[in-house]
Amino acid sequence: MIIVMSSRDENDVRKVVSRVEEMGYMPHVIRGVERTVVAAVGDDREKHRLTALESLPCVEKVVPILEPYKLVSRSVRPDPSVIECGGVKIGAGHFAVVAGPCSVESKSQIQESARIVKDGGAHLLRGGAYKPRTSPYAFQGLEEEGLKLLRAAGDAAGIPVVTEVMAPDQVHLVEEYADMLQVGARNMQNFSLLREVGRARKPVFLKRGMAATIKELLMSAEYILSEGNPNVILCERGIRTFETATRNTLDIQAVPVLKRETHLPVVVDPSHSSGDWELVAPMAKAAVAAGADGIMIEVHPRPEEAFSDGPQSLTPEHFRQLMEELKPYLALAGKTTQGGA
Ligand code: PEP
Ligand code: MN
Repeated sequence: MIIVMSSRDENDVRKVVSRVEEMGYMPHVIRGVERTVVAAVGDDREKHRLTALESLPCVEKVVPILEPYKLVSRSVRPDPSVIECGGVKIGAGHFAVVAGPCSVESKSQIQESARIVKDGGAHLLRGGAYKPRTSPYAFQGLEEEGLKLLRAAGDAAGIPVVTEVMAPDQVHLVEEYADMLQVGARNMQNFSLLREVGRARKPVFLKRGMAATIKELLMSAEYILSEGNPNVILCERGIRTFETATRNTLDIQAVPVLKRETHLPVVVDPSHSSGDWELVAPMAKAAVAAGADGIMIEVHPRPEEAFSDGPQSLTPEHFRQLMEELKPYLALAGKTTQGGA
């Protein structure tokens, strides 16, 4: 239920919060531009009891949240959320470019990558230290050593870092090194992982499962918010369809649908959706046109030598070219970027 406050007085908000807690619900206070609301989440079956709060003078009304997802819904927070990650803003007009190799492979590879993407105007450096690979015999990532190399490369280049966390018991470790925690497509419905990153202090980059609906993606984000972490960025990275010409099919419509349903920022990953570096630039432009708040792109100093996802990785030159080409699209969409781009 949403408790719409008629008052902005902090004492009134505190009073409502404790009443909600006494009734066995978890209160989440959302201070919007126009009004303050308290979202009470918990057992749906007893929620009608919360309507009693309407008798308080500081409460305007108590209304049900009709969507199955609550805290991520626009009905709870009509204004778009801005997520801050290592000093970089994403959402509500702030466009961010996340770029870097699929995997952290060596000190020199990630240092070189960090400089390339930073100089090209990227805002965050990506690189996997724990890699979810289809084959157990494929390169699995450098694990903790990879985290250290990524952190050092980001610090040296002056760019925050994002990396994937695959299991609940890795969250503490990854959080020590990364500015943002990536939950990959294959783990979008790993509910214990979602709960654990929901308890983390770092923002979460949640990728859509390749066979997941938009509603399921939003429900997964709800798991994270319900644990207390409001900083979630959603990522459309292509879904499985009957089409075999590309690795996946970029569901570009997911961007405006998500923007309609949720206040959370939405990022597009044209690298994993296409699997083909030649399609990355046109799909990145499509992402801007569709209203995305950012893009995640794989860039490698020498894609032909990459341990993973070389065919979809941009060369440094192609990355610089794309960043140049994006400028008029970003201007047209009214997006601002910090530094670079
Ligand atoms: C990745 O970002 O390298 C990755 C594994 O992506 P996804 O989870 O979307 O497949
Ligand atoms: Mn990859």
